[in-house]
Amino acid sequence: APDSALLSVRDLCVRFRGITALDGVSFDVHRGHIAGLIGPNGAGKTTLFNCLSRLYGYAEGSIRFDGRALEDAPAHRIAGLGIGRTFQNLALFSSMTVLDNIKVGRHARTRKGFLANALRLPGVGVEEHDSTRRAEELVRFLGLDPVADKRVSELPFGTRKRVELGRALASEPKLLLLDEPAAGLNHEEVGALGSLIRAIRDQFRLTVLLVEHHMGLVMSVSDRVVALNFGRKIAEGSPAEVRQDAGVIQAYLGTD
Ligand code: ATP
Repeated sequence: APDSALLSVRDLCVRFRGITALDGVSFDVHRGHIAGLIGPNGAGKTTLFNCLSRLYGYAEGSIRFDGRALEDAPAHRIAGLGIGRTFQNLALFSSMTVLDNIKVGRHARTRKGFLANALRLPGVGVEEHDSTRRAEELVRFLGLDPVADKRVSELPFGTRKRVELGRALASEPKLLLLDEPAAGLNHEEVGALGSLIRAIRDQFRLTVLLVEHHMGLVMSVSDRVVALNFGRKIAEGSPAEVRQDAGVIQAYLGTD
């Protein structure tokens, strides 16, 4: 039977000089789920994301993704393995158009695709045509048609965040890591983002791991929630269970 967990994190530890940023963290994310990762500032959420996208080579413990050990994969191969991510600080090419930013995300998936496109090798016509079509589909799905040919630098922040989602989706990930997607968005935009995250999961049949401080968003979109504090997992369960957890409430109130 296929493993129902797309992602299994076991006993993950990361230390930065004196600081233990992650201290024996274990959890699973099931295929097709939206999983929320919460915790106060400094809890280790970004560190965990960086481990998943292999930005550190020195974590202890293990990460299994889609049936294989992630330890073997260098950072530049992560998109090819099926992990896409957005960043807390947007990582877009601001002088390029919306459509081109999304196309770049697609080329990130394979070195061949990237090179073929850059060098205009034979057969590229097909590759290029395919990428353009796929990027255009994403532009439509994200409601970005009116700004597809605008430079990213001309766009309001909320729209840029949607472009970043498009860029991550263009690599056709199995697992989408969203790093604080609600940060900087207004109330209405956060509501729309919740619906969009669910629509993304349903439409592309992918699995989502969401780091987010906006509790309303996490609790409304997640199937499961994992809570960290000081690098340790302090709670895990349904949104209702985690919201009521005494340890989680205490962590957020700051009374230790
Ligand atoms: P926030 O919600 O504020 O983004 P977080 O939960 O993402 O916080 P991390 O950024 O993962 O937390 O940080 C966990 C701990 O590790 C913190 O104490 C932080 O200061 C420390 N830390 C993170 N990155 C580094 C680094 N490169 N060097 C040293 N310490 C670091």
